[in-house]
Amino acid sequence: MSEKQNGLILKGIGGFYYVETALGIYECKARGAFRKQKITPLAGDRVEITVNVNQENTIDSISERSNFLVRPPIANVDIMAIVVATKEPKPSTLIIDRLTAIAVHKGIEPVVVVTKSDLASSEELCAIYSKAGIKTVAVSSVTGEGIDLLKEILSGKISVFTGNSAVGKSTLLNALDSSLDLQTGEYSEKLGRGRHTTRQVELFKFCGGYLADTPGFSSLDFEKSDLILKDELAYCFPEFEKHLGNCKFSTCTHTCEKGCRIVEAIEAGEIPVSRHNSYKAFFEEAKNIKEWEL
Ligand code: ZN
Repeated sequence: MSEKQNGLILKGIGGFYYVETALGIYECKARGAFRKQKITPLAGDRVEITVNVNQENTIDSISERSNFLVRPPIANVDIMAIVVATKEPKPSTLIIDRLTAIAVHKGIEPVVVVTKSDLASSEELCAIYSKAGIKTVAVSSVTGEGIDLLKEILSGKISVFTGNSAVGKSTLLNALDSSLDLQTGEYSEKLGRGRHTTRQVELFKFCGGYLADTPGFSSLDFEKSDLILKDELAYCFPEFEKHLGNCKFSTCTHTCEKGCRIVEAIEAGEIPVSRHNSYKAFFEEAKNIKEWEL
């Protein structure tokens, strides 16, 4: 007896995958065919499985991914929440901009979340990213500001949160969904302490969607495959988009040229200066990347 079902991979451990379907969570093995094709199922993959009585359940097919990350290994991420604090630690626009650019490049929506809005004004940061066409939410775990708005944005989505512990990421996650502590706690216990170093990713139920997290996971590590080529870079800055193609020279790099619409928009105050500074820094780096390196 067997039955086909559609589901979502919540996690994979030691060759077993835990797939959530409308009827429950099933432990499955991937069909050998995937190994031959060098495809590894990932958390976040939407799959078709066969549920068997008296023998192993199998993953039969994987739906086309909208995107995937290498570290942590996960597919179909909808939102990258970039968590920064108003102060303690002082935020770096260069780091935020790198993350927003990588997110856009991968087809993930970046959302800048500014914590500790009760400690200092979040206005300046929020103004920069709102102007850049990036969703920005100021939150305070103390006053509850912004929590409902953020819940709404995350609802029904698969999200990853970046940001180190000092920005108050764990406090924020718990303020958003108090069931998370319990879920992650159970998970840590089951695996035992020594296993925390394995960068196993798991999807947790979160705000009506899923949170991709690993125990002890604090920020995304980026690899060569996450680097952006110089010709693609301008498209990773949403506020540049409407100006692209309108510069005086078709070879414009949008760094300093005469007749560059981006440079003009910065002078007119339409594009934040810090965003262009980051763009120029990434452009310098990207000049040295060769396509074959990716
Ligand atoms: Zn230009």
